[in-house]
Amino acid sequence: MTNQFPVNRALFDDVMVPNYSPSAVIPVRGEGSRVWDQEDREFIDLAGGIAVTCLGHCHPALVSALKDQGERIWHLSNVMTNEPALRLAKKIVDNTFADKVYFANSGAESNEAAFKLARRWALDVHGEDKSQIIAFKQGFHGRTFFTVTVGGQEVYSDGFGPKPGDIFHAEYNNLDSVKALISDKTCAVVMEPLQGEGGIVSPTDEFVKGVRELCDQHNALLVFDEVQTGVGRTGDLYAYMGLGVTPDILTTAKALGGGFPIGAMITTTEIAKHLKIGTHGSTYGGNPLACAIAEAAFDTVNTPEVLDGVKAKAKIIVDALNTINSKHNVFSEIRGKGLLIGAVLNEKYQGKAKDFLNAAMDEGAMTLVAGANIVRFAPSLVIPDGDITEGLERFERAVAKLTQ
Ligand SMILES: *Cc1c(COP(=O)(O)O)cnc(C)c1O
Repeated sequence: MTNQFPVNRALFDDVMVPNYSPSAVIPVRGEGSRVWDQEDREFIDLAGGIAVTCLGHCHPALVSALKDQGERIWHLSNVMTNEPALRLAKKIVDNTFADKVYFANSGAESNEAAFKLARRWALDVHGEDKSQIIAFKQGFHGRTFFTVTVGGQEVYSDGFGPKPGDIFHAEYNNLDSVKALISDKTCAVVMEPLQGEGGIVSPTDEFVKGVRELCDQHNALLVFDEVQTGVGRTGDLYAYMGLGVTPDILTTAKALGGGFPIGAMITTTEIAKHLKIGTHGSTYGGNPLACAIAEAAFDTVNTPEVLDGVKAKAKIIVDALNTINSKHNVFSEIRGKGLLIGAVLNEKYQGKAKDFLNAAMDEGAMTLVAGANIVRFAPSLVIPDGDITEGLERFERAVAKLTQ
């Protein structure tokens, strides 16, 4: 394609709203876990577009679904249903605790639906006094005003005027802090079954089980935000499956479409019935094109080979990070589950996660951060072992440069 003007990083500053500060690299092509930029420089992708491209770039099954559905029908509106949406919903229902599915286009939208449903359920079943939502400090649920307010970082929710009310924040992994807030006025407890953006923090078994019990005692719904942990990321299809605790409502997005925008809110028949005709909706939600691609992604991920592969590949990464650490002494802890891994920088490198990301980029490896002190890895669930090894060699070169 020829352009009439230079399409480069400088153009971003000219024409884009300045809410992001993207890197100078502009990728134009990807295959598996390798990506090439405008100058044809090659990168190994250990970031997965923030836990989204669960099958890497241009996976043949997804490309085939995209082309096939792209030549049939893209969009209908919710005045009609469509085959891909029905097939995907059936597969989600058959493979999870849920009986019903609502499709959206993103994580935030899926959560918005979940929170509105929890409020509506509480109003219908228990009356006006049951509207409190308990969520967690450092939690992340998206950027709409409701979801950012439920999220536990005021830097994201302050500065936009009056916030949606009746939302309280407890401390993650501190059951007493939940006990102190929960009551019969609580309609829902909202949590990530592993805090992603908040720093790759796993819940203890005791904590998740305790939260489930408290919800039961107070007739509150337990909402799991699995936008980042869902669709195989932790080595289970959904993280709740590895925790022995079942939520009442679950949200899934990011990896659900393997790189194509789609999200879903899933729940039981009893709860779902409160989202009656006309109470909620989305123009694009559940469109045939997104659902066809998501169906291909779901079918491909939901196999023992891929899910067991996640555990094996996670071990290779964690071992390599430990080896890097034994040579360069930069991390205080390597944590996470499956292919959602956080390398926590030690005292000496506090606040420097972005420097590690930038240095890795210079060496040809794409990584992520989770806050200022954690380097995050969320590669494709099917990244070839050779790409992991080479990607981490590149990352090690970056670490060596930074620590010199
Ligand atoms: C990314 C994320 C979201 C927001 O998803 P969007 O698609 O950006 O709206 C919500 N919850 C969690 C846990 C996430 O990681």
